[in-house]
Amino acid sequence: MNQNLYLSQEQIQLQMDYIDKLSALTQGFERSHGRPMAAYVETYGCQQNENDSERICGMLHKAGFELIEERKAADLILFNTCAVRENAELKVFGNVGALKHWKNENPERILILCGCMMQQEHIAEQIRQKYKQVDLVFGTHALYRFPELLFRILSERSRVFELGGGDVIAEDLPIVRKAGLQAWVSIMYGCNNFCSYCVVPYVRGRERSRRPEKILEEVRSLAGHGTKEITLLGQNVNSYGSGSDFEENFAQLLTAVCRIDGIERVRFMTSHPKDISDELIEVMAREKKVCKMLHLPVQAGNNRILQAMNRKYTVEEYLAKMEKARREMPHLALSTDIIVGFPGETDEEFEDTLKLLRRVQFDNVYSFLYSKREGTAASKLPDPNSHEVKQKRFERLLEVQNEIALELNQAYEGKIYDVLVEGVSKTNPDCMTGRTDTNKIVNFPGNESMVGRFIPVRITKAHTWSLNGEIWRIEHANE
Ligand code: SAH
Ligand code: SF4
Repeated sequence: MNQNLYLSQEQIQLQMDYIDKLSALTQGFERSHGRPMAAYVETYGCQQNENDSERICGMLHKAGFELIEERKAADLILFNTCAVRENAELKVFGNVGALKHWKNENPERILILCGCMMQQEHIAEQIRQKYKQVDLVFGTHALYRFPELLFRILSERSRVFELGGGDVIAEDLPIVRKAGLQAWVSIMYGCNNFCSYCVVPYVRGRERSRRPEKILEEVRSLAGHGTKEITLLGQNVNSYGSGSDFEENFAQLLTAVCRIDGIERVRFMTSHPKDISDELIEVMAREKKVCKMLHLPVQAGNNRILQAMNRKYTVEEYLAKMEKARREMPHLALSTDIIVGFPGETDEEFEDTLKLLRRVQFDNVYSFLYSKREGTAASKLPDPNSHEVKQKRFERLLEVQNEIALELNQAYEGKIYDVLVEGVSKTNPDCMTGRTDTNKIVNFPGNESMVGRFIPVRITKAHTWSLNGEIWRIEHANE
């Protein structure tokens, strides 16, 4: 067990001292400009990145920055980047290119890139050479050192590239969360699985788990501030605790989170099929607060492809786990991730994936076109299929899945569900929007006083992606 895994109080205090030093600089700015220094943060990729950005915003806020929503009005722009697929990277390059003029207009402005994409040397090098408007680049390992790095930028006004650092766990950094009702809580970082297509283990380092007492302390504090729904985050939550110096496994942690007063719903992601345990399925079934939905990425429905992906399970093993979960929880909603067009995937092998979708009947499928990632094992495989072939398969998969999703949603019609109300619908100001515990989006006529409450809603109409409903009994809704 690496003793340097958990940062010491002194190391965190050092960063807090830099936040104080930054505050002095931002106060100076405010005095001379008559307004606070404004920061804009944009996040790409997964919830883990969103959660990291909440920490970045926490540090900026504590250092006296005003967090704003309008990119061009900012004095500091930060992109927290994703490396999982090429299109996320291309978007970042596009955005950074477009900000050249913004930077030239006023060289005092600060442009920062961080996150998974920056942890790759070839990308950082490209930024160094071709995108001179970027002031600061740091990878995932240096996230906790953001105050120190930003202070260097503001005080020295030279470019800084920080790509080093090891696998650490930094506790007690400031945080500004996006939503009060629901919160993401990272329980572990990194990944040891090395699926052949995936860059995550290279950019986020080895798997490491936060101590259970720190996680529970964070959830308790969230509950104290009105959070009702928690999503526990990790690349593979089922291996929580492995290789650590404490005993708790994920099933035990989940149970402990459910015991916290004020928390009404607990979700988690992601589970790797090879590691999902009977104990976890039992806890899910037993604990009322654990949402009855399981995101279990299968990636492909063919054993040759699964082996080439280094997923370490077969279709049959996957089905057996799904079926066990369904036996224990008959109304369980299921979702998965699929990669279409893995190198060398044949028509028949793709058909196997469609067969699997039809057999399992997932409520939700997140499908992705295979994207070649430098440094991964799959990037060296021959890939004879054209983009058109892959695109056609992708569209076929969507068609098949949309039909399944609509049918599954239609089974909700006429039934009553508790909906945790999240806010006003974006498309209709008279409608409220919320979710069932199976993660179905429900829109229904209501008012803002319902936000944050559980409202019984009768489903009147199913769509592919959402459900419409009406409040079931007003006396219940007013309780
Ligand atoms: N740790 C999670 C997923 C992390 S990445 C897990 O194992 O399930 C999220 C999803 O992105 C993956 O499940 C996979 O479907 C997709 N993905 C990862 N690398 C990809 C690549 N190179 N091309 C296309 N999709 C990819
Ligand atoms: Fe990537 Fe596989 Fe790790 Fe998920 S489990 S992050 S897909 S290597």
